[in-house]
Amino acid sequence: MDLSFTPEEIAFRDEVRAFFADEYPADIREKVNRGIRLDKDDHVRWQKILAQHGYMGVNWPVEYGGTGWSPVQKYLFSIEMANANAPDVVPFGVNMVGPVIYSYGNEAQKQRFLPDILESNVWWCQGYSEPGAGSDLASLKTMAVRDGDHYVINGTKTWTTLGQHAEWIFLLARTNTDVARRQEGISFILADMSTPGITVRPIITIEGGHEVNEVHFEDARVPVENLVGEEGRGWTYGKVLLQHERTNIAGVARSKYRLARLKELASSSQHGAKPLMEQATFRGKLVATEVALKALEYTDLRTLAAVATGKAPGPESSILKIKGTEMQQRLDTLYMEAAGYYALPYVPDQFTLDAADDDVVVDSSEPTTALRYFNYRKASIYGGSNEIQKNIIAKHVLGL
Ligand SMILES: Cc1cc2nc3c(=O)[nH]c(=O)nc-3n(C[C@H](O)[C@H](O)[C@H](O)COP(=O)(O)OP(=O)(O)OC[C@H]3O[C@@H](n4cnc5c(N)ncnc54)[C@H](O)[C@@H]3O)c2cc1C
Repeated sequence: MDLSFTPEEIAFRDEVRAFFADEYPADIREKVNRGIRLDKDDHVRWQKILAQHGYMGVNWPVEYGGTGWSPVQKYLFSIEMANANAPDVVPFGVNMVGPVIYSYGNEAQKQRFLPDILESNVWWCQGYSEPGAGSDLASLKTMAVRDGDHYVINGTKTWTTLGQHAEWIFLLARTNTDVARRQEGISFILADMSTPGITVRPIITIEGGHEVNEVHFEDARVPVENLVGEEGRGWTYGKVLLQHERTNIAGVARSKYRLARLKELASSSQHGAKPLMEQATFRGKLVATEVALKALEYTDLRTLAAVATGKAPGPESSILKIKGTEMQQRLDTLYMEAAGYYALPYVPDQFTLDAADDDVVVDSSEPTTALRYFNYRKASIYGGSNEIQKNIIAKHVLGL
């Protein structure tokens, strides 16, 4: 693995760095720096800026408007984005359903959906999980029954992230129950959220935020033309999408940024007290975390190097998902220690701009440290829980 960058790659990095310095809107930057939740308009505005500069379809082929970047360019872009503390792209459109549509959709679907995904004109959500089907997704019960030119859909999806903003949902539904294996007879369908019979109900998470939802389908009629690929082959398409999701979840660049920021926080003296960094126990934990993060970064780079030579990410995406999310949670724990009693108050409203009062705290993001700590318990569950990733590794790497 050659880790030195070419002059062209360094020029690319400088160009991207300048983009984040010049084009990242100051008001969104301030919200992110203060740990304040972004609203839908913030995300859409930022993603449209990325799209205008051709930076949205990072993983897309050029023919569909993608960047055509090499794995190294993608890596450099993610590092610069994290260092600017710019918000991640909401993944459901561009990172999830987009690749399924350009890989398996028909020409009409590509023309209808891909440009709007790239330009963030339409907000998508992911309808896979159900109350009785999470890790064991193949047991999903949502039915799509053919009636003329429509599917009539009935069932409940759950944990649907940011579904309250979504104009469209991509879902896995059963179109055939007379099958030998449960994975057969599942189809990948796109549905307009304004279809009569589709309702969204909020789920409030442990820190008090509204990020996830239930989506109910009651005799929702969806045109058959919204079926992607072949009927009954949705499981195959859905699995491809999950691999994309898992590699992205690792968030190595973001963790590097957060570690650097944590070091600054722990090195500063607050109200005349000795900096936390001077405590050997805390310093020991920080150093161990830094070493583990370096190891994770090299695993990420090794995967990138393999992808650059034409290999698809296989079980590596499971390894990155486990280690990446464990790292995020480890950092959250250290942030809690560093913030000390400033992290204690439970103030869900601190996630909103009006309520964030930086007079009472040493660092303006402290009131959201505890909220983030609790919110990010999700990281080892979503995208396929870490226990399930271990099963995948056992099967594919260890042959168990
Ligand atoms: C914040 C958040 C956002 C999400 N967003 C979405 C979304 O947008 N769209 C969507 O479709 N889904 C979403 N999910 C759902 C997510 O994919 C599921 O929660 C996940 O797959 C686990 O399923 P489950 O919750 O049903 O738990 P279960 O499958 O019931 O698992 C419960 C526990 O048992 C363990 N377990 C289960 N089976 C095994 C096994 N065979 N071996 C070892 N351990 C096992 C699991 O690891 C877990 O700890 C989201 C989840 C969260 C928490």
